[in-house]
Amino acid sequence: MHWFKQCLPHGLSLQLGIGMFSEHSKLQSTNELIDRIHASSAAVVAIGLPTSKNSSHLRAESDAPFRIARELLRDEGNPFAENAKDLSGPDIFEYLGSAELESEDEFDRIRKISATAFRSGKRPLFIGGDHSVTYPIVAGLSEVHGPVSILHFDAHPDLYDCFQDNPLSHASPFARILENGFASSLWQFGIRTLTPHQCAQVRRFGVHCNEMRDHKRWKAPVFDGPVYVTVDLDALDPAFAPGVAHQEPGGMSVRDILDILNECSGMVVGSDIVEYHPGRDVNGITAIVAAKLARELVGRLDSDCGVRA
Ligand code: MN
Ligand code: MN
Repeated sequence: MHWFKQCLPHGLSLQLGIGMFSEHSKLQSTNELIDRIHASSAAVVAIGLPTSKNSSHLRAESDAPFRIARELLRDEGNPFAENAKDLSGPDIFEYLGSAELESEDEFDRIRKISATAFRSGKRPLFIGGDHSVTYPIVAGLSEVHGPVSILHFDAHPDLYDCFQDNPLSHASPFARILENGFASSLWQFGIRTLTPHQCAQVRRFGVHCNEMRDHKRWKAPVFDGPVYVTVDLDALDPAFAPGVAHQEPGGMSVRDILDILNECSGMVVGSDIVEYHPGRDVNGITAIVAAKLARELVGRLDSDCGVRA
């Protein structure tokens, strides 16, 4: 049956017709997105969060999330995750478009969108945007589920108390999340940029920081209860994902990330993929890699959907 379904033209639950899809490339107000969340029958909804407001180095193009979504939704692409979930199946997945951000109140907007998605029982996948967005996303998540476990892939621990005089920097989201009690545990993989200050923060917050140099001894975490998965694309070696602001060689492969995702227990309730910079990409390969990770995350989110948090 699967091969047959693949031959059918897809519509917008992977099924955006061309006109509908370009309409989704426009930025949506917070209220428009909230209406779309309520109107969607899909279990997993993807929402773009294009902001570079708290990026310390480079600004990304505002269509970065859309470019990843476009790779994910390509008609000629394979709609199946590796766990055989068919993203084009009924009520499984829908891309709702990108939020209008880069405003003074952008964290309030993101928190509201996040809390709405979780409160309405969706399993959202957010597509960034710089990594600062994870703080308001997890703030909204904790309103609904309480403190969650976080599985974090990154070259950087993002635990700075303050970076370039900005406590909301994309180098600081996990310091804010942990000091607010929004996470019960934080497991990081792929880290290869620890500084003495960030080492002190790892100890202060009891972070499970799995450094790249120890990767042969890594063990997948054992979670019970709700888990949030956050993927900074610079966790990957730049050979796999050059389209990031901070290219840090000696990183993870796509398969390394998928292995940990597959092996970790717990119920994944939400996720993000952040830090895509189209201007630094090479032949769109990073968007393709991000779309692959997105497809596998949707597969996991949908599989874990039967279990209530
Ligand atoms: Mn990073
Ligand atoms: Mn990061």
